[in-house]
Formats: sequence, structure tokens, C-alpha cells
Amino acid sequence: MSRVYNFSAGPAVLPEEVLKAAAEEMLDYKGTGMSVMEMSHRSKAFEEIINEAEADLRELMGIPDNYKVLFLQGGASTQFAMIPMNLMKNRVADYIITGQWAKKAAAEAEKYGKVNRIASSADKTFSYIPDCSDLPISEDADYVYICENNTIYGTKYKTLPDTKGKLLVSDVSSCFLSEPVDVTKYGIIYGGVQKNIGPAGTVIVIIREDLITEDVLPGTPTMLTYKTHADAKSLYNTPPAYGIYICGKVFKWLKSMGGLEVMKERNEKKAKLLYDFLDQSTLFKGTVVPEDRSLMNVPFVTGNADLDAKFVKEAKAAGLENLKGHRTVGGMRASIYNAMPYKGVEALVAFMKKFEEENL
Ligand SMILES: *Cc1c(COP(=O)(O)O)cnc(C)c1O
Repeated sequence: MSRVYNFSAGPAVLPEEVLKAAAEEMLDYKGTGMSVMEMSHRSKAFEEIINEAEADLRELMGIPDNYKVLFLQGGASTQFAMIPMNLMKNRVADYIITGQWAKKAAAEAEKYGKVNRIASSADKTFSYIPDCSDLPISEDADYVYICENNTIYGTKYKTLPDTKGKLLVSDVSSCFLSEPVDVTKYGIIYGGVQKNIGPAGTVIVIIREDLITEDVLPGTPTMLTYKTHADAKSLYNTPPAYGIYICGKVFKWLKSMGGLEVMKERNEKKAKLLYDFLDQSTLFKGTVVPEDRSLMNVPFVTGNADLDAKFVKEAKAAGLENLKGHRTVGGMRASIYNAMPYKGVEALVAFMKKFEEENL
């Protein structure tokens, strides 16, 4: 068996300890004689899995009691509709456009109400986060929406926008559990888990209790109503059971690592290694302004598309996989999520040095 260093933006690298533990339990989960994949979601064993997962997530993030944790399906993209359907009481919302995912969320919300795009970094190919200290927040906005870490462009909000008292809704798909957060600053924090937590198919929604109501837009499907899932403790229908099980294992791994403060330090150390190299490189160049750089997704270019392609190809041959940039931006992107070891980034930087020497 040989494993590569996988720099994919998602689905992405998972901790090897978690994969091994899951493999060990594949045929017989804790004496049940069956795999978690084969087990009733109403069974005692699964009830323990989902309850423990929630308790561990609450502990890791310090989630207050007045927030619910929902394990849902449909990926982050289903939330693009679910959020307006549940929150747009006035049918108005403010969106900050920092890349493709915020753009898509705004376009989807527009099906349900008026969307004000109150700030954007489209003018410079989303290479920075707009100043959000004094935004023209709409008087009647039901919420302000952000994508907190921009997976494709490699930017991250270092301070949250001043929403002037309005509810903040944040897509944290690609920075979930990468550092501590203050949950009380948000109405909803949500993310697809396939970037930093688990297998695709599960999305975690952390939502303040008072936002869970029956007062949703007319025609909202039962399955897209937060109250349905909150009332049923995420067991209204069959949940993405195996995904939740793996997420639970990753939460335990994060706790064993020392929690989110420690993960932040580790992630900063990894990212620094790569950014420091990029900043002094004569061949490679980071594409994001230093103050808004993501700790998770690091885009870079040589400025020559043929050389970029050669780099991606040779890196793959050297066991460094999925370094090609998003299809809409080109160049390269290294995603260095929680489970990417420091050694993986060291290997990448060593390879980049060698490539630079050979191609200058
Ligand atoms: C990947 C990603 C999405 C889309 O996730 P799906 O689960 O494929 O719908 C949305 N937002 C962000 C920030 C992402 O990185």
C-alpha cells in the first residue's frame, strides 16, 4: 500500500488514523456483527454514534446550548436554497461576493427574494476580501451572507463583517474546524464536510434556536425546513449515517490532537512554510494579497500556463496529487486541510524548489 500526499480541494485528505479505525470496524462495529453502513439509523449503536458526534462537535467549537446542530444531506449547495427559504421573512438579504460559492448562493437566493450584493472582490479576480467595516447593510435585510473561506481563490475573512445588528450566515465548508470560532457571532454556520471533516454527502448546520420556526416561505419542502430536522434530531428520514460516523471519528481525532487552538497553530505553521517559499520564489507567485490569505487553500501560478501544466504533471509523478487549480482560474492550488501533515507541505516545497531550479 502506498499513499500519496493529496492536495485536493475536496473531497480531500482525511486523517490516516481515522481511515484505519474505520477499516478495522468495517465488518463488525463494536460487536454488533455489522458495518455502520448496514445498521438501522434507529438502532442503539447508531444513536450513540450520532449523539457522541454532536457532543464532541459541541465541545470542540464551544457551541452554546441555544444553538442546534443538524446533520443534513444535499451538500453545501442545498443550503444555498434552504437558507433563504427558512430565513427570508422580508424577502430581502445582503450578500458579500468573494468568489464562486458566494455568487452561486446569491443567485439561488434571488429565486426567493431580493438580493443586495453589498460588496464584492470581483474587480480583482477575488484575490482579496473587501473592507467590511462599514457596509451599506439593507434596512430590511433578513440576514447578511458570507462565504468565510474561499476554496477556489484562497481568501479568508480575518475579521467578520460588521452586520450592524443583522443576522450573519456563513458558509465555512473549507475552513470548518481549522481554528476556533465564536459561534455566538453567527445565526447560522454551515458547511459541507468533504473539505475538512469527512466524506461527501453530509452537511453540518449549526443554527441559533430562535431561527428554527414554522414560518418559512410558502411551498418550502418538508425536507428543506430546518424545524423538521431540529425536531427529529437529524433523524426525520435516514440520515447520511456512514458519513456522520466518519465525522464523529474526525471529531475524536481533533480532540486527541488538542482541539482547535492546536489545529490553528499547526495550520498556521504549515501555511507559513508554503507562503514564505512563494514570497521569495523567482518562479512561483501566490495570487492572494497577504492579509487575506487562507490557511487551507493556497493558489499559486508561474505565469506560464504550459509551465503550470508541466508542474502539475511532474508533481503527480512525485506523489504530490491534485495540485491543479480550479478549472475556472487555472494555475495551481494546494489545499492543506487539517489532515495534511507538515511533512506533506515540506515535500511540496522541496519539490517546488527543485522544479524552480530546473525550469528557470
Ligand atoms: C465545496 C464548496 C461548496 C459546495 O459544496 P457541495 O457539497 O459540493 O455542494 C460550497 N461552499 C464552499 C465554500 C465550498 O468549498
